[in-house]
Amino acid sequence: MKLIMLGAPGAGKGTQAEILSRELNIPTISTGNILRAAMKNGTPVGLKAKEYVESGKLVPDDVIIGIMEERLAEADCANGYILDGMPRTIPQAEALEKAGIDIDVALSIEISDEEIITRMSGRRTCADCSTTFHVVTNPPKVEGICDKCGGNLTIRKDDAAETVKARLDVYHAETEPLKAFYAERGKLRCVDNQPTIETTTDVIREALGL
Ligand code: AMP
Repeated sequence: MKLIMLGAPGAGKGTQAEILSRELNIPTISTGNILRAAMKNGTPVGLKAKEYVESGKLVPDDVIIGIMEERLAEADCANGYILDGMPRTIPQAEALEKAGIDIDVALSIEISDEEIITRMSGRRTCADCSTTFHVVTNPPKVEGICDKCGGNLTIRKDDAAETVKARLDVYHAETEPLKAFYAERGKLRCVDNQPTIETTTDVIREALGL
């Protein structure tokens, strides 16, 4: 299964990708997580990406395409994968096609901008393993501590309200057109965000025929 997660920032792509990844036994590839790790480690890619990520802009396509080519060549991708946060532009989607990558489904999680803004203010992200929590809807067992690895939970710089608005504008202008791109190819499935993580997973399972 080669699956693309589409949806606005904060729609729950990462959370749902992790659940599907465990169920289907295929890796999730999150360009956001790869970029944040590169920034933390001060690698050349990280240094290039920092100002874009922190201001809510998109990192240039050539940087992202380079990262993806490297990652998709790794052995764990042989049986499929879930792409979380890539492609985010038409040129990125075209680059996947050019590389001969045949996607099975592009799954879009639909949610209003208002709900995103409320939701992002409660998001907490592990500084070590990038797992996300929410102070109300998905709290960690111990406040401020990651359930998975014990790392400290932090607020992502780009989850600040003003930056979230900028990221939503970028989403509507650059990423939303991908829905038409994949619809034309008969690959698009849309689900509405549900009140809980579990019920959203249920509608996704149904849309994917799992
Ligand atoms: P995310 O964790 O997916 O919300 O990504 C966080 C930030 O990383 C985005 O706001 C962009 O600055 C950058 N980023 C992640 N994936 C991509 C991509 N495919 N293309 C361009 N920029 C990206």
